[in-house]
Amino acid sequence: MAIIGSTAAEMVDRASEAVRDNHFLEFRLDYLEKPLIALPKLKQFLAENSVVTAVATCRRAANGGKFKGAIAAELEVLQKASSSGFHLVDLELQTAESIKASELDKLRARGAALIVSYHDFQTTKDLDGIFERIRPYEPEFIKIVSTAKSLADNVVMMHFLERTGDMANMVGLCMGDQGLISRVLAIRAGSVFTFAAATQGEETAPGQIAARTLVDTYRIGQIDAATRVYGVAGNPIKHSLSPLMMNTAFHRETVNAVYLALQTSKLTDLLTLVRELPLSGLSVTMPLKQEVLKHLENMDPISAQVGACNTIFRAHDGKLYGFNTDVGAIIRPLEKRLSLAGAKILVLGAGGAARAAVFGLVNKGAEVVVLNRTPQTAQKLAREAKAKTIRREQLAKTSFDVIVNATPVGMHGVKPLHILEAKEINARLVFDLVYNPVDTPLLRMARQKGVAVVTGIEMFVQQGARQFEIWTGKRAPEEEMLRVVVHALRQRAEAAAAHPPRH
Ligand code: NAP
Repeated sequence: MAIIGSTAAEMVDRASEAVRDNHFLEFRLDYLEKPLIALPKLKQFLAENSVVTAVATCRRAANGGKFKGAIAAELEVLQKASSSGFHLVDLELQTAESIKASELDKLRARGAALIVSYHDFQTTKDLDGIFERIRPYEPEFIKIVSTAKSLADNVVMMHFLERTGDMANMVGLCMGDQGLISRVLAIRAGSVFTFAAATQGEETAPGQIAARTLVDTYRIGQIDAATRVYGVAGNPIKHSLSPLMMNTAFHRETVNAVYLALQTSKLTDLLTLVRELPLSGLSVTMPLKQEVLKHLENMDPISAQVGACNTIFRAHDGKLYGFNTDVGAIIRPLEKRLSLAGAKILVLGAGGAARAAVFGLVNKGAEVVVLNRTPQTAQKLAREAKAKTIRREQLAKTSFDVIVNATPVGMHGVKPLHILEAKEINARLVFDLVYNPVDTPLLRMARQKGVAVVTGIEMFVQQGARQFEIWTGKRAPEEEMLRVVVHALRQRAEAAAAHPPRH
């Protein structure tokens, strides 16, 4: 866990907090205004906390750190750290290459073990070449950190760690949003440790995740060679609640599996990862739901009918099978509340979610009417699915059994806020597929009119629960999945209220 701070007192405070959860701490001495002056206090902290294994890092600005001093000053800080109770010192390869062997010997003579590290903030390339440059220094640990520009870069890092793990104590991972996989799986590939931020907001490298998330959500301590890997692929994906929900389900049902956020818009990149890692299954989201179909060996009839799939299962023979759990996730909550055969249902929108709703409802015998901002798309969908369209001005004098909102209107950050006016809500039930916020303006308006509502969370949990069942053959712990998602959304809403965006 990385500890930052501009003064010794700040660092000691953060380290004292961190040590409750984690005994392996990296002190980023380059964040200190005066590292040499701070060291005695850190020495005292280490003496009082003998459980801690401490790494001293003083990365110069030229190598992506914050230390403004020259190489000689960096060495002085690391030497002093080494004799202040730090167990490991991290020396950048570029520094090692520009100092005399005697200076390196002097650093090592102070007692701390040596990590020689290399950081590439641009790409993932020539990992073996870098390894060969570091090896002659015979450090106790070799740390190579690159930047993932694609999901496939993680595969490159994993294979590299597998190759070199027998030759040295390796530490490797990829930075960046696309490198999350390597932060969770590097240990399995042979990395002797990984790096995490002390808390969210205290990241010391791009893409770093908080230690608590690594432990609680990704259960990093339990990942082994038998752990099956799943993920949600799409873009954007960083704020997806699927990893939290699905990892909770795996944990609850004691399935040895981990579920990761895979940020990509490129299907070829995703398929490389699926084959090479390999992945056991995928949730697929925008913009890949339609495009992925042609790469599947087989799919369920509803995916073929809707023209999109959100779930992939990779069989033992490596073949990919597609399923669409969105459709069931819209139908089921409604079926619980009314009989769909003959029900008159208005679907707002004509995009991916609306297609799932319209086809699914028509299949159940409902009389479906589509309204979309772009009328042509509504007409096309209605033609394909044997539904009808309606004009906006007809709404106020038409009543429905159900209104389904399948547009993003009402979603956090999307304007305008209202997809319908109060006088246009003439229905027994309103189902808003938007789930962030849980309580949307449309649902509030419906409630005020005494209309029953279904929240988008129900769909979100249902589509995930069915994915879990397809992959594991076990019944999904739906209540627990719902609980963690509601809790996380509430926390996000509270955080947003406490720190409203500045315009
Ligand atoms: P999509 O394919 O991009 O389709 C969006 C649809 O909404 C289009 O028909 C679009 O109309 C319409 N639209 C967009 N902005 C609008 C606006 N300002 N006013 C009126 N109509 C607007 O998106 P999608 O995948 O169908 O997802 C739609 C929403 O469903 C998402 O934003 C999400 O909130 C929700 N959803 C929820 C779940 C869940 O698990 N609960 C799952 C999937 C989706 P045009 O054709 O005119 O562009």
